[in-house]
Amino acid sequence: MPPTNASFLAPSTLTTLVFAALLLAGLALRLWLVSRQVRHVARHRGVVPAAFTHRIPLAAHQKAADYTIAKARFGLLEMALTTAVVLGWTLLGGLDALNQALLDWLGGGMVQQLALLACFALIGGSIDLPVALYQTFVIEQRFGFNQMTLRLWLADLFKSTLLGAVIGLPMAALVLWLMGTAGPLWWLWAWGTWMGFNLLLMVVFPLFIAPLFNKFQPLQDESLKARVTALMQRCGFAAKGLFVMDGSRRSAHANAYFTGFGAAKRVVFYDTLLKQLSPGEVEAVLAHELGHFKHKHITRRLIGMFAISLTGFALLGWLSARAWFYTGLGVQPNLMLPGLPGGAPNDALALLLFLLAAPVFTVFVTPLLAQISRRHEFQADAYAATQSSGADLASALLKLYEDNASTLTPDPVYARFYYSHPPATERLARLPAALQP
Ligand SMILES: [Zn+2]
Repeated sequence: MPPTNASFLAPSTLTTLVFAALLLAGLALRLWLVSRQVRHVARHRGVVPAAFTHRIPLAAHQKAADYTIAKARFGLLEMALTTAVVLGWTLLGGLDALNQALLDWLGGGMVQQLALLACFALIGGSIDLPVALYQTFVIEQRFGFNQMTLRLWLADLFKSTLLGAVIGLPMAALVLWLMGTAGPLWWLWAWGTWMGFNLLLMVVFPLFIAPLFNKFQPLQDESLKARVTALMQRCGFAAKGLFVMDGSRRSAHANAYFTGFGAAKRVVFYDTLLKQLSPGEVEAVLAHELGHFKHKHITRRLIGMFAISLTGFALLGWLSARAWFYTGLGVQPNLMLPGLPGGAPNDALALLLFLLAAPVFTVFVTPLLAQISRRHEFQADAYAATQSSGADLASALLKLYEDNASTLTPDPVYARFYYSHPPATERLARLPAALQP
Protein backbone atom coordinates (compact mmCIF):
# COMPACT_ATOMS: atom_id res chain seq x y z
CA MET A 1 0.00 0.00 0.00
CA PRO A 2 1.38 3.43 -0.88
CA PRO A 3 1.50 5.93 1.98
CA THR A 4 -1.45 8.34 1.99
CA ASN A 5 0.04 10.95 4.31
CA ALA A 6 -0.66 14.54 3.15
CA SER A 7 3.03 15.40 3.36
CA PHE A 8 3.57 13.18 0.34
CA LEU A 9 1.40 15.44 -1.78
CA ALA A 10 3.18 17.86 -4.09
CA PRO A 11 3.15 21.40 -2.58
CA SER A 12 1.09 22.58 -5.54
CA THR A 13 -1.63 19.97 -5.00
CA LEU A 14 -1.61 20.65 -1.29
CA THR A 15 -2.06 24.38 -1.97
CA THR A 16 -5.03 23.66 -4.21
CA LEU A 17 -6.63 21.38 -1.64
CA VAL A 18 -6.14 23.74 1.31
CA PHE A 19 -7.35 26.72 -0.71
CA ALA A 20 -10.46 24.95 -2.01
CA ALA A 21 -11.25 23.49 1.42
CA LEU A 22 -10.93 26.86 3.18
CA LEU A 23 -12.90 28.64 0.46
CA LEU A 24 -15.78 26.20 0.86
CA ALA A 25 -15.51 26.10 4.67
CA GLY A 26 -15.63 29.91 4.78
CA LEU A 27 -18.67 29.93 2.49
CA ALA A 28 -20.44 27.28 4.56
CA LEU A 29 -19.70 29.18 7.77
CA ARG A 30 -21.07 32.42 6.36
CA LEU A 31 -24.15 30.74 4.91
CA TRP A 32 -24.86 29.20 8.30
CA LEU A 33 -24.46 32.56 10.05
CA VAL A 34 -26.75 34.38 7.62
CA SER A 35 -29.43 31.70 7.82
CA ARG A 36 -29.30 32.00 11.63
CA GLN A 37 -29.67 35.78 11.35
CA VAL A 38 -32.64 35.55 8.97
CA ARG A 39 -34.44 33.00 11.15
CA HIS A 40 -33.78 34.89 14.37
CA VAL A 41 -34.92 38.25 13.03
CA ALA A 42 -38.02 36.71 11.43
CA ARG A 43 -38.93 34.96 14.69
CA HIS A 44 -38.78 38.26 16.63
CA ARG A 45 -40.55 40.34 13.98
CA GLY A 46 -43.93 40.26 15.70
CA VAL A 47 -43.05 41.95 19.00
CA VAL A 48 -40.91 44.97 19.91
CA PRO A 49 -38.40 43.88 22.60
CA ALA A 50 -39.58 44.86 26.09
CA ALA A 51 -36.81 47.43 26.68
CA PHE A 52 -37.89 49.42 23.59
CA THR A 53 -41.70 49.27 23.65
CA HIS A 54 -42.02 52.87 24.84
CA ARG A 55 -39.75 54.23 22.08
CA ILE A 56 -39.96 52.09 18.95
CA PRO A 57 -43.34 51.58 17.23
CA LEU A 58 -44.18 48.09 15.99
CA ALA A 59 -44.26 49.27 12.37
CA ALA A 60 -40.66 50.56 12.64
CA HIS A 61 -39.55 47.32 14.29
CA GLN A 62 -41.09 45.32 11.45
CA LYS A 63 -39.58 47.55 8.81
CA ALA A 64 -36.15 46.97 10.41
CA ALA A 65 -36.77 43.22 10.40
CA ASP A 66 -37.81 43.22 6.74
CA TYR A 67 -34.88 45.41 5.73
CA THR A 68 -32.39 43.24 7.65
CA ILE A 69 -33.79 40.07 6.10
CA ALA A 70 -33.86 41.51 2.58
CA LYS A 71 -30.21 42.58 2.90
CA ALA A 72 -29.17 39.24 4.41
CA ARG A 73 -30.93 37.22 1.68
CA PHE A 74 -29.30 39.30 -1.02
CA GLY A 75 -26.02 38.88 0.84
CA LEU A 76 -26.34 35.11 0.34
CA LEU A 77 -26.52 35.56 -3.41
CA GLU A 78 -23.58 37.95 -3.31
CA MET A 79 -21.50 35.45 -1.30
CA ALA A 80 -22.20 32.67 -3.76
CA LEU A 81 -21.28 34.97 -6.64
CA THR A 82 -18.03 36.12 -4.97
CA THR A 83 -17.00 32.52 -4.30
CA ALA A 84 -17.74 31.57 -7.91
CA VAL A 85 -15.71 34.55 -9.15
CA VAL A 86 -12.72 33.66 -6.94
CA LEU A 87 -12.87 30.06 -8.17
CA GLY A 88 -13.24 31.28 -11.74
CA TRP A 89 -10.15 33.46 -11.52
CA THR A 90 -8.04 30.85 -9.76
CA LEU A 91 -8.66 27.11 -10.01
CA LEU A 92 -10.86 27.36 -13.11
CA GLY A 93 -8.13 29.22 -14.95
CA GLY A 94 -9.57 32.70 -15.57
CA LEU A 95 -6.47 34.61 -14.46
CA ASP A 96 -4.21 32.25 -16.33
CA ALA A 97 -6.17 32.69 -19.57
CA LEU A 98 -6.20 36.48 -19.21
CA ASN A 99 -2.46 36.51 -18.49
CA GLN A 100 -1.65 34.31 -21.49
CA ALA A 101 -3.80 36.39 -23.82
CA LEU A 102 -2.08 39.59 -22.69
CA LEU A 103 1.36 37.95 -23.00
CA ASP A 104 0.59 36.96 -26.60
CA TRP A 105 -0.56 40.47 -27.35
CA LEU A 106 1.88 42.65 -25.42
CA GLY A 107 4.84 40.39 -24.63
CA GLY A 108 6.20 40.29 -21.08
CA GLY A 109 6.94 43.64 -19.44
CA MET A 110 5.58 46.48 -17.39
CA VAL A 111 2.86 47.32 -19.92
CA GLN A 112 1.56 43.76 -19.91
CA GLN A 113 1.58 43.66 -16.12
CA LEU A 114 -0.31 46.93 -15.81
CA ALA A 115 -2.75 45.73 -18.47
CA LEU A 116 -3.31 42.56 -16.43
CA LEU A 117 -4.10 44.57 -13.29
CA ALA A 118 -6.36 46.96 -15.21
CA CYS A 119 -8.27 44.16 -17.01
CA PHE A 120 -8.69 42.30 -13.73
CA ALA A 121 -10.10 45.42 -12.06
CA LEU A 122 -12.41 46.19 -14.99
CA ILE A 123 -13.76 42.64 -15.26
CA GLY A 124 -14.24 42.38 -11.48
CA GLY A 125 -15.91 45.80 -11.43
CA SER A 126 -18.28 44.82 -14.24
CA ILE A 127 -19.33 41.65 -12.42
CA ASP A 128 -20.08 43.78 -9.34
CA LEU A 129 -22.16 46.33 -11.25
CA PRO A 130 -25.49 44.46 -11.29
CA VAL A 131 -25.02 43.70 -7.59
CA ALA A 132 -24.50 47.38 -6.76
CA LEU A 133 -27.41 48.43 -9.00
CA TYR A 134 -29.77 45.97 -7.35
CA GLN A 135 -28.66 47.03 -3.89
CA THR A 136 -29.28 50.72 -4.54
CA PHE A 137 -32.26 50.72 -6.87
CA VAL A 138 -34.16 47.72 -5.56
CA ILE A 139 -33.38 47.10 -1.89
CA GLU A 140 -32.53 50.62 -0.69
CA GLN A 141 -35.31 51.98 -2.92
CA ARG A 142 -37.93 49.60 -1.52
CA PHE A 143 -37.22 50.73 2.04
CA GLY A 144 -37.16 54.41 1.14
CA PHE A 145 -33.44 55.01 1.66
CA ASN A 146 -32.27 55.57 -1.89
CA GLN A 147 -32.15 59.19 -3.07
CA MET A 148 -30.00 58.60 -6.14
CA THR A 149 -31.07 58.94 -9.72
CA LEU A 150 -29.58 56.55 -12.25
CA ARG A 151 -27.83 59.58 -13.74
CA LEU A 152 -26.05 60.43 -10.48
CA TRP A 153 -25.18 56.75 -10.01
CA LEU A 154 -23.58 56.62 -13.46
CA ALA A 155 -21.73 59.90 -12.86
CA ASP A 156 -20.35 58.44 -9.60
CA LEU A 157 -19.28 55.30 -11.40
CA PHE A 158 -17.53 57.29 -14.12
CA LYS A 159 -15.73 59.52 -11.62
CA SER A 160 -14.58 56.69 -9.38
CA THR A 161 -13.34 54.60 -12.33
CA LEU A 162 -11.37 57.56 -13.65
CA LEU A 163 -10.01 58.30 -10.18
CA GLY A 164 -9.06 54.65 -9.73
CA ALA A 165 -7.10 54.75 -12.98
CA VAL A 166 -5.39 58.11 -12.28
CA ILE A 167 -4.34 57.12 -8.75
CA GLY A 168 -4.17 53.34 -9.04
CA LEU A 169 -2.12 52.86 -12.19
CA PRO A 170 0.92 54.97 -11.15
CA MET A 171 0.81 53.38 -7.68
CA ALA A 172 0.67 49.90 -9.23
CA ALA A 173 3.52 50.77 -11.60
CA LEU A 174 5.64 51.93 -8.67
CA VAL A 175 5.01 48.73 -6.68
CA LEU A 176 5.69 46.54 -9.73
CA TRP A 177 8.89 48.44 -10.40
CA LEU A 178 10.03 47.87 -6.80
CA MET A 179 9.17 44.18 -7.08
CA GLY A 180 11.28 43.92 -10.19
CA THR A 181 14.31 45.97 -9.14
CA ALA A 182 14.62 46.29 -5.36
CA GLY A 183 16.05 42.80 -4.72
CA PRO A 184 14.88 40.17 -2.23
CA LEU A 185 13.73 42.79 0.27
CA TRP A 186 11.44 44.47 -2.29
CA TRP A 187 8.42 43.75 -0.06
CA LEU A 188 9.79 46.01 2.66
CA TRP A 189 10.16 48.88 0.18
CA ALA A 190 6.75 48.17 -1.31
CA TRP A 191 5.23 48.17 2.17
CA GLY A 192 6.84 51.53 2.97
CA THR A 193 5.54 52.96 -0.28
CA TRP A 194 2.06 51.58 0.36
CA MET A 195 1.98 53.07 3.89
CA GLY A 196 3.19 56.43 2.62
CA PHE A 197 0.50 56.34 -0.04
CA ASN A 198 -2.17 55.62 2.58
CA LEU A 199 -1.05 58.46 4.83
CA LEU A 200 -0.98 60.82 1.85
CA LEU A 201 -4.48 59.70 0.91
CA MET A 202 -5.71 60.58 4.41
CA VAL A 203 -4.63 64.18 3.77
CA VAL A 204 -5.68 64.35 0.13
CA PHE A 205 -9.06 62.63 0.49
CA PRO A 206 -11.00 65.25 2.49
CA LEU A 207 -9.46 68.16 0.58
CA PHE A 208 -9.60 66.96 -3.02
CA ILE A 209 -11.40 63.66 -3.47
CA ALA A 210 -14.48 63.84 -1.23
CA PRO A 211 -15.52 67.23 -2.75
CA LEU A 212 -15.70 65.54 -6.17
CA PHE A 213 -18.68 63.56 -4.90
CA ASN A 214 -20.31 65.79 -2.26
CA LYS A 215 -20.73 69.40 -1.27
CA PHE A 216 -19.19 70.43 2.03
CA GLN A 217 -20.38 73.59 3.71
CA PRO A 218 -19.25 75.08 6.99
CA LEU A 219 -21.77 74.42 9.75
CA GLN A 220 -24.14 77.42 9.77
CA ASP A 221 -26.25 76.73 12.85
CA GLU A 222 -24.62 79.10 15.37
CA SER A 223 -26.05 77.56 18.53
CA LEU A 224 -25.05 74.06 17.48
CA LYS A 225 -21.64 75.38 16.49
CA ALA A 226 -21.16 76.95 19.93
CA ARG A 227 -22.26 73.74 21.59
CA VAL A 228 -19.96 71.56 19.53
CA THR A 229 -17.00 73.93 19.92
CA ALA A 230 -17.49 74.00 23.70
CA LEU A 231 -17.54 70.21 23.77
CA MET A 232 -14.34 69.97 21.75
CA GLN A 233 -12.63 72.48 24.03
CA ARG A 234 -13.77 70.54 27.06
CA CYS A 235 -12.26 67.40 25.55
CA GLY A 236 -9.04 69.18 24.50
CA PHE A 237 -9.61 68.50 20.84
CA ALA A 238 -8.52 70.72 17.94
CA ALA A 239 -10.16 70.54 14.53
CA LYS A 240 -9.79 72.71 11.45
CA GLY A 241 -13.49 73.01 10.82
CA LEU A 242 -17.03 71.80 11.18
CA PHE A 243 -18.70 70.83 7.94
CA VAL A 244 -22.08 69.69 6.75
CA MET A 245 -22.14 67.21 3.87
CA ASP A 246 -25.10 66.72 1.52
CA GLY A 247 -25.42 63.01 2.32
CA SER A 248 -29.11 63.29 1.45
CA ARG A 249 -28.15 63.49 -2.23
CA ARG A 250 -27.55 59.75 -2.20
CA SER A 251 -29.12 58.15 0.83
CA ALA A 252 -31.39 58.80 3.80
CA HIS A 253 -28.96 56.97 6.11
CA ALA A 254 -27.37 59.33 8.62
CA ASN A 255 -23.78 59.58 9.81
CA ALA A 256 -21.03 61.79 11.22
CA TYR A 257 -17.29 61.33 10.98
CA PHE A 258 -13.84 62.76 11.47
CA THR A 259 -11.49 62.99 8.57
CA GLY A 260 -7.87 63.99 8.01
CA PHE A 261 -5.36 63.85 10.81
CA GLY A 262 -3.06 66.09 12.85
CA ALA A 263 -4.11 69.72 12.65
CA ALA A 264 -6.01 69.11 9.40
CA LYS A 265 -8.73 67.13 11.17
CA ARG A 266 -12.26 68.13 10.31
CA VAL A 267 -15.63 67.08 11.59
CA VAL A 268 -18.22 66.19 8.97
CA PHE A 269 -21.93 65.90 9.76
CA TYR A 270 -24.32 64.43 7.22
CA ASP A 271 -27.23 66.80 6.65
CA THR A 272 -29.44 63.77 7.32
CA LEU A 273 -27.98 63.46 10.83
CA LEU A 274 -28.62 67.11 11.67
CA LYS A 275 -32.20 66.76 10.45
CA GLN A 276 -32.92 63.68 12.55
CA LEU A 277 -31.24 64.58 15.85
CA SER A 278 -31.70 67.36 18.40
CA PRO A 279 -28.64 69.56 19.16
CA GLY A 280 -28.07 67.68 22.42
CA GLU A 281 -28.11 64.38 20.58
CA VAL A 282 -25.71 65.64 17.91
CA GLU A 283 -23.36 66.73 20.69
CA ALA A 284 -23.57 63.28 22.30
CA VAL A 285 -22.80 61.55 18.99
CA LEU A 286 -19.80 63.81 18.49
CA ALA A 287 -18.66 63.14 22.06
CA HIS A 288 -18.75 59.44 21.22
CA GLU A 289 -16.48 60.07 18.21
CA LEU A 290 -14.14 62.13 20.41
CA GLY A 291 -14.07 59.14 22.76
CA HIS A 292 -12.46 57.14 19.98
CA PHE A 293 -9.71 59.75 19.80
CA LYS A 294 -9.28 60.00 23.57
CA HIS A 295 -8.83 56.25 23.85
CA LYS A 296 -6.41 56.33 20.88
CA HIS A 297 -8.56 53.91 18.90
CA ILE A 298 -7.76 55.66 15.63
CA THR A 299 -4.00 55.51 16.21
CA ARG A 300 -4.23 51.91 17.31
CA ARG A 301 -6.27 50.96 14.26
CA LEU A 302 -3.68 52.65 12.06
CA ILE A 303 -0.82 50.80 13.76
CA GLY A 304 -2.78 47.57 13.44
CA MET A 305 -3.25 48.24 9.73
CA PHE A 306 0.50 48.92 9.37
CA ALA A 307 1.35 45.64 11.12
CA ILE A 308 -1.17 43.57 9.15
CA SER A 309 0.00 44.97 5.83
CA LEU A 310 3.66 44.40 6.79
CA THR A 311 2.83 40.76 7.48
CA GLY A 312 0.93 40.62 4.20
CA PHE A 313 3.80 42.06 2.16
CA ALA A 314 6.35 39.78 3.84
CA LEU A 315 4.17 36.79 3.10
CA LEU A 316 3.72 37.93 -0.48
CA GLY A 317 7.49 38.37 -0.80
CA TRP A 318 7.98 34.77 0.25
CA LEU A 319 5.08 33.28 -1.73
CA SER A 320 5.88 35.12 -4.96
CA ALA A 321 9.14 33.16 -5.24
CA ARG A 322 7.47 29.71 -4.95
CA ALA A 323 6.24 28.01 -8.10
CA TRP A 324 3.57 26.09 -6.13
CA PHE A 325 1.91 29.35 -5.10
CA TYR A 326 1.04 29.96 -8.77
CA THR A 327 0.38 26.44 -9.99
CA GLY A 328 -1.55 25.54 -6.82
CA LEU A 329 -3.91 28.45 -7.52
CA GLY A 330 -4.45 27.61 -11.16
CA VAL A 331 -1.88 29.85 -12.85
CA GLN A 332 1.14 28.93 -14.93
CA PRO A 333 3.95 31.29 -13.81
CA ASN A 334 5.56 33.18 -16.66
CA LEU A 335 9.07 31.81 -16.04
CA MET A 336 7.95 28.38 -17.11
CA LEU A 337 6.54 29.56 -20.40
CA PRO A 338 8.18 28.04 -23.43
CA GLY A 339 9.27 30.57 -26.04
CA LEU A 340 9.91 33.36 -23.56
CA PRO A 341 13.63 33.36 -22.93
CA GLY A 342 14.38 34.57 -19.43
CA GLY A 343 10.66 34.60 -18.78
CA ALA A 344 8.40 37.52 -18.04
CA PRO A 345 7.92 38.96 -14.54
CA ASN A 346 5.29 37.28 -12.36
CA ASP A 347 4.80 40.26 -10.10
CA ALA A 348 1.32 41.33 -11.21
CA LEU A 349 0.21 37.68 -11.12
CA ALA A 350 1.55 37.31 -7.60
CA LEU A 351 -0.25 40.47 -6.44
CA LEU A 352 -3.57 39.35 -7.90
CA LEU A 353 -3.35 35.79 -6.59
CA PHE A 354 -2.53 37.15 -3.17
CA LEU A 355 -5.51 39.53 -3.27
CA LEU A 356 -7.76 36.63 -4.30
CA ALA A 357 -6.43 34.13 -1.78
CA ALA A 358 -6.02 36.35 1.32
CA PRO A 359 -9.77 36.80 2.08
CA VAL A 360 -10.14 33.00 2.13
CA PHE A 361 -7.93 33.00 5.22
CA THR A 362 -8.98 36.30 6.80
CA VAL A 363 -12.68 35.29 7.14
CA PHE A 364 -11.65 33.44 10.24
CA VAL A 365 -10.16 36.60 11.83
CA THR A 366 -13.40 38.58 11.38
CA PRO A 367 -14.87 37.76 14.83
CA LEU A 368 -11.66 38.81 16.58
CA LEU A 369 -11.57 42.21 14.83
CA ALA A 370 -15.30 42.67 15.44
CA GLN A 371 -14.82 41.98 19.14
CA ILE A 372 -12.04 44.56 19.46
CA SER A 373 -14.20 47.08 17.62
CA ARG A 374 -17.19 46.45 19.91
CA ARG A 375 -14.99 46.99 22.97
CA HIS A 376 -13.89 50.32 21.51
CA GLU A 377 -17.52 51.31 20.95
CA PHE A 378 -18.36 50.66 24.61
CA GLN A 379 -15.36 52.77 25.67
CA ALA A 380 -16.38 55.63 23.36
CA ASP A 381 -19.96 55.47 24.67
CA ALA A 382 -18.72 55.63 28.26
CA TYR A 383 -16.56 58.64 27.39
CA ALA A 384 -19.49 60.37 25.68
CA ALA A 385 -21.64 59.82 28.77
CA THR A 386 -19.08 61.61 30.96
CA GLN A 387 -18.42 64.50 28.55
CA SER A 388 -21.99 65.14 27.42
CA SER A 389 -25.29 63.48 28.29
CA GLY A 390 -25.67 59.72 28.42
CA ALA A 391 -29.44 60.14 28.08
CA ASP A 392 -28.94 62.19 24.90
CA LEU A 393 -26.60 59.54 23.51
CA ALA A 394 -29.14 56.82 24.28
CA SER A 395 -31.95 58.68 22.54
CA ALA A 396 -29.68 59.55 19.59
CA LEU A 397 -28.78 55.88 19.20
CA LEU A 398 -32.43 54.87 19.35
CA LYS A 399 -33.36 57.40 16.68
CA LEU A 400 -30.50 56.23 14.48
CA TYR A 401 -31.49 52.60 14.94
CA GLU A 402 -35.04 53.45 13.96
CA ASP A 403 -34.24 55.78 11.06
CA ASN A 404 -31.64 53.41 9.60
CA ALA A 405 -33.96 50.42 10.14
CA SER A 406 -31.27 48.54 12.09
CA THR A 407 -32.73 45.50 13.76
CA LEU A 408 -32.97 45.45 17.56
CA THR A 409 -33.02 41.65 17.58
CA PRO A 410 -30.01 40.28 15.70
CA ASP A 411 -29.01 36.65 16.13
CA PRO A 412 -26.48 36.65 19.01
CA VAL A 413 -24.00 34.40 17.20
CA TYR A 414 -24.22 36.42 13.98
CA ALA A 415 -23.73 39.64 15.95
CA ARG A 416 -20.68 38.20 17.75
CA PHE A 417 -19.14 37.23 14.46
CA TYR A 418 -19.83 40.32 12.37
CA TYR A 419 -21.04 43.31 14.36
CA SER A 420 -18.47 46.08 14.65
CA HIS A 421 -20.95 47.90 16.92
CA PRO A 422 -22.63 46.20 19.88
CA PRO A 423 -26.31 45.29 19.41
CA ALA A 424 -28.76 47.97 20.64
CA THR A 425 -29.82 46.11 23.78
CA GLU A 426 -26.25 45.64 25.03
CA ARG A 427 -25.24 49.16 24.12
CA LEU A 428 -28.16 50.94 25.74
CA ALA A 429 -28.06 48.71 28.80
CA ARG A 430 -24.58 50.01 29.56
CA LEU A 431 -25.39 53.68 29.18
CA PRO A 432 -27.07 54.39 32.54
CA ALA A 433 -24.13 52.66 34.20
CA ALA A 434 -21.75 54.90 32.29
CA LEU A 435 -23.54 57.90 33.84
CA GLN A 436 -22.57 56.96 37.39
CA PRO A 437 -19.38 58.54 38.67
ZN1 LIG B 1 -17.93 54.53 17.48
